[in-house]
Amino acid sequence: MRAEELLLRYQDGERNFQGIELRYSDKFRRVDLSRADFSSAHFSNCGLREANFDHAILRNATIDANLRRASFKFADLQGASFCQEFHVASALPKRSSFLGEADFTGANLATADLRAVDCQQAILVSAALVSADLRGADLRNANFQNADLTNANLSDANLCHANFTGANLAGANTTDVKLADTVLPDGSISRYETLSMVEAKVSHFQRSAWKPLVEIRDGDQTASKFGGYPWLGVDEAWPICSHCQEPMQFFFQLNLDQLPAALADKFGKGLLQFFYCTSDADCEGWLTSSDYQLLRIVQPSRTPSTVGIPKIQSDSISKKQESEKQFHSQVIVGWQYMSDYPDWTGEVEVQGVSITYDELFKVATDKILEDSDLIKDLDDWIYMDEREQCSVQDMVVAEFMIDAAMMPFEGDKLAGWPHWVQAVEYPRCPTCDNAMNTLIFELASDDHVPFTWGDLGTGYILQCPEHKEQVACLWQC
Ligand SMILES: [Zn+2]
Ligand SMILES: [Zn+2]
Repeated sequence: MRAEELLLRYQDGERNFQGIELRYSDKFRRVDLSRADFSSAHFSNCGLREANFDHAILRNATIDANLRRASFKFADLQGASFCQEFHVASALPKRSSFLGEADFTGANLATADLRAVDCQQAILVSAALVSADLRGADLRNANFQNADLTNANLSDANLCHANFTGANLAGANTTDVKLADTVLPDGSISRYETLSMVEAKVSHFQRSAWKPLVEIRDGDQTASKFGGYPWLGVDEAWPICSHCQEPMQFFFQLNLDQLPAALADKFGKGLLQFFYCTSDADCEGWLTSSDYQLLRIVQPSRTPSTVGIPKIQSDSISKKQESEKQFHSQVIVGWQYMSDYPDWTGEVEVQGVSITYDELFKVATDKILEDSDLIKDLDDWIYMDEREQCSVQDMVVAEFMIDAAMMPFEGDKLAGWPHWVQAVEYPRCPTCDNAMNTLIFELASDDHVPFTWGDLGTGYILQCPEHKEQVACLWQC
């Protein structure tokens, strides 16, 4: 079945989709499929990344899909499989689904197959995972508060920074799990020695960062928000792209006076606003001061303008996709704290950030290699070294830090370190010529804003640490 047909039938009130086969459907990201019965259904190559499966029945379904932010609250997923069968060649399960930030609050995942699946930051609060198979799963930053993991198999899973407060792990297999900053069921924090020594070594590079928490509604004109109605001066017209003369899309604004307390005055005062041209008139570019973007800090001291939001051209996306590519208003109602670390290979030249292989081994033992599965990958890296001329030792260090979740968070975030897609690229401050190396905000493709930077790239809002009025936006892909 194609996704179009499924949606039409769902809209007509049908809820029984037992045993269906749903094929490729990348266009349907935000769809409501709540309370439907998908028992024994097969989802193949589906991009239902923000689909709503709340209270749905997915018993014994096989799911090969990008469900990064899908919602499965109180869904019945007993016996569901999120990974493909064993590969003949490698004897390893192939990761097929991606459950990055999916919400499984209260869901039943008993005996579900999640081997090697990427569940980074997944929400599994109060979920039932009795006898679930989580071998080798990437569960970094996942939230298992009060979850029932009785007899679950977690061997070789990466649990760094995960939260198990109040979880039941009776009979669970936790052989060779990776623990660092993992909150255990009794609320204590587990840090294994190697990692805590490395963390101490690199602690001065640690920065605080925050993920935006949003509600789907517009806030007032001075609120921090994505889309919706921005603050404009009383006589101000809607910003126009000076390249194609079309109105620009309002991406987001941050009220710099209402950020987390640790950032008070860090970026200055007022509203940081970002508009960008989304017409197809070749107004795309990565120049920091191009005429098809408006990045500014304004002081909302006067009565705001009430000019209407114009119809924004967005021809770069097909008409079919237009309805879901709309910039829905999302007001930022809070910030979720996280620890952020630099890109260990990238920031070296510009910020002097480095930890060398020797340093890593001075503070640790060769357990590092065992613990982080590095030995088995070493041959690949030696091959890459010949090809790309980068040091195998640097790769080992970078890979270790990634494994330990000491890396820049990838996604929309406030402050922290840039998650560079390409090489480090801080623009020069027009006033002092120094690097504008303060990250105010990172805007990922299709995170809160339905916009793709080139080929799934990332946008960076940067500021001169000395001259707070100097802000720049650039993007990489
Ligand atoms: Zn334009
Ligand atoms: Zn400057």
